[in-house]
Amino acid sequence: MKKQILLAINSEISLDVINKIKKMFGGKISHSKLYVTLDGITAEEAEHVLNYLKNVVDFEIDMDLNYFTDEELMGFDFFYCTGQRKPDTGIRFIDFEFKMNGNASFDYTNFCPKCKKGLKQISPFVVKGLSKKYAAKKFVSPFWAYWIVSSEFMEKIQQHNISGVEFWELLNYKGEASKTNFQMKPARILQNVLDLKYVKFPKDCNCINQRVGIPDTTVRLHREAKNILLDFNELYEHNSSNLTGMYIISKKLLKIFIEEGIRPHWDIDIIPVEFV
Ligand SMILES: [Zn+2]
Repeated sequence: MKKQILLAINSEISLDVINKIKKMFGGKISHSKLYVTLDGITAEEAEHVLNYLKNVVDFEIDMDLNYFTDEELMGFDFFYCTGQRKPDTGIRFIDFEFKMNGNASFDYTNFCPKCKKGLKQISPFVVKGLSKKYAAKKFVSPFWAYWIVSSEFMEKIQQHNISGVEFWELLNYKGEASKTNFQMKPARILQNVLDLKYVKFPKDCNCINQRVGIPDTTVRLHREAKNILLDFNELYEHNSSNLTGMYIISKKLLKIFIEEGIRPHWDIDIIPVEFV
């Protein structure tokens, strides 16, 4: 396991101190006046660094996240994947409307205006033009919900016979399909797969859209689910922080991501699945 630790800094932190910490562990450090992030740090190294910092800086631990290394991930067969870790696409990429019936790509039957969940995509997205920056990327996930891949990455996935995947066109306002990018979409939605004993339910809204809180370290699915999972799957439930479904991917698909230089934790969020 490695850690990502976010420290809120209450006093001044000098560059000397930053440079000193840099030498104390092998991961990455980023810093501003108010925050220091230590990423890719082991528990042992973290103890070391924090003990040192205690004496020189006034700080609080804002976040302490544990995550699996690539090697550790290979010990699992399936993973919960929300997409990019830091989505670099936004509302301009997909012309997305929260207003009722505001976007013809969606069926609004189960949409809840309060929690903004329950949209069902029924036809290809009309995008406001793909800027070169986005079109060149292998994989982007606007809203952590919709997966957009480059045509090269799509071909790679097709070559490996990944099951459960559909590729939908992306249209411009003239109705013309993009040649460079496609939407990667799960072919079906699985119900009664997530073990609801292990997840918390947000209480802010009680509409019909079942929303769950996912723990940081592992996601638990029913043992029987292992037989029906494909390489790419969408769960019926919705993560409380996501707008649409939750995706489960196989190790085979994860390996393609890694081969293509898309790294777990750094580029995409990956949480191993446990079967219970
Ligand atoms: Zn709701």
